[in-house]
Amino acid sequence: MRYDYLIVGSGLFGATFAFKAKQMGKRCLVIEKRPNLGGNVYCDTIEGIHVHKYGAHIFHTSNKEVWDFVNSIVEFNRYTNAPIANYKGELYNLPFNMNTFSQMWGVRTPEEAQKKIEEQKAEALLKLNGRAPSNLEEQALSLVGKDIFEKLIKEYTEKQWGRKCEDLPSFIIKRLPVRFVYDNNYFNDKYQGIPVGGYNKLIEGLLKDVDCKTSCDFFTEYKDCWRDIADRLVYTGPLDEYFGYQLGRLNWRTVFFKTRIEDTPNFQGNAVVNYTSHEQPYTRVIEHKHFEMFGQEVYNCPKTVISEEYSTEYKQGMEPYYPVNDESNNRLAESYRELAKQEADVVFGGRLAEYKYYDMAPVIEKVLGLF
Ligand SMILES: Cc1cc2nc3c(=O)[nH]c(=O)nc-3n(C[C@H](O)[C@H](O)[C@H](O)COP(=O)(O)OP(=O)(O)OC[C@H]3O[C@@H](n4cnc5c(N)ncnc54)[C@H](O)[C@@H]3O)c2cc1C
Repeated sequence: MRYDYLIVGSGLFGATFAFKAKQMGKRCLVIEKRPNLGGNVYCDTIEGIHVHKYGAHIFHTSNKEVWDFVNSIVEFNRYTNAPIANYKGELYNLPFNMNTFSQMWGVRTPEEAQKKIEEQKAEALLKLNGRAPSNLEEQALSLVGKDIFEKLIKEYTEKQWGRKCEDLPSFIIKRLPVRFVYDNNYFNDKYQGIPVGGYNKLIEGLLKDVDCKTSCDFFTEYKDCWRDIADRLVYTGPLDEYFGYQLGRLNWRTVFFKTRIEDTPNFQGNAVVNYTSHEQPYTRVIEHKHFEMFGQEVYNCPKTVISEEYSTEYKQGMEPYYPVNDESNNRLAESYRELAKQEADVVFGGRLAEYKYYDMAPVIEKVLGLF
C-alpha cells in the first residue's frame, strides 16, 4: 500500500500528526524503533500501577484548544502536582510558597515571610557589593537568600548538573518564583491532570486505525527507500542522526531510573518527593500510583512502585532527554536546521528532531497548528 505519510516515531508529535492526518483522509504508516508505541509517555503496568518508564509526565496547559483536544481522546483526572522536598529529613512544600516559608522560619503571614526573604537577599547583595552575580550560587542567593538556597536549591542543583553551584553559570537560574499564598500547586496553568487509564490510552486513541510497526528503526529499514512507499516523511528522531552526524554530534543531558516494587500500599504519601541534599545520590523519588489513585484507591492496591531518579552525563546509547542549550550545541543544531530546510518533503518535528525542550502540550499545539 502507498501512504501519504511515513511517520518516524510514535511519541506525542508523531501520534498527534497521524491522528490529524487520518481525520483529513490521509493514509499514514507510523514506525517506532522501541517495542512500544507512545515515545516518552509510554507506561509499563506493574502490580496494576501505570509506571512512567521514561520519567514522570504531568500534563499541564493553559491552552483550551489543546486541553479540549486531549480530552476528546481520553478523559483526564484531577491530579495536581504538589511536590515535597526532603532536606536531611526536614520536609518542605514546593514550589516556594507560604507553606514552605512557614516550615522554614515559623512565619505565619505574607508580610513576615517577605521581610525574612528581603533580609536574606539584602545580605547576599551586600556581599556582591554592586557587582552582578558571577555564578549560579550568587545568582540564587541574590534572588531568594541563603536559607532557601542552602536547603532547597544548592545540593539538588549540584546533583542535577554534576557540578558545584559556584562553578555553574548564573544564567541557568533566571528567576526563582516565590508565592506569598498557601498554594502548593506546582503549575500556574489553568488545566492539568493525567489521562484516566494512563498515557497509553491517549496514545491508543490517537493511533486508532493507523498502521503502526514497532521495533522498526527508520535507518535500518526505510532511510534509503521510504519514497517508494510514501509521499512525505514526518521525522521525530534525533536531528543529527538523520544527517548521519555529518557535522558532529549534539549533546544531551539524561537521567536514569532505578524502579522497584515496595511491599506497602503507600510508600511516601505523594507522587513526587525531591531529595535536596547530597545524603541521597538521587534527585527525586516518584511513587507512580499517586498520579492515578486517590483516597481509598491507594490502599485497595496492596503494593506500590517507586522510581529513584539519577541525573547523569549523556553517553552514546543512553536515552537523549534534554538538549544542552549552550553556545556550541545551539550553533551545531542551527547548522543541522539549515540542512533540514533543504529536505523539501520531510517535516522535522518534536523534541528530538527540533533539538528543543518541549512539554507535552506545546508539542500537541505545534502539530494542531500544522493542519
Ligand atoms: C524525563 C522527562 C520528563 C518529562 N516530563 C514532562 C512533564 O511532566 N510534563 C510535560 O508536559 N512534558 C514532560 N516531558 C516532555 C515530553 O516527554 C515531550 O514533550 C514529549 O515526549 C515530546 O514528544 P515527541 O514525540 O517529540 O518525542 P518522543 O516522545 O521522544 O518520541 C519520539 C519517538 O521517536 C522514536 N524514534 C527515534 N528515532 C527513531 C528511528 N530511527 N526509527 C523509529 N523510531 C524512532 C523514539 O523511540 C520515540 O518513541 C518530559 C520529558 C522528559 C525527558
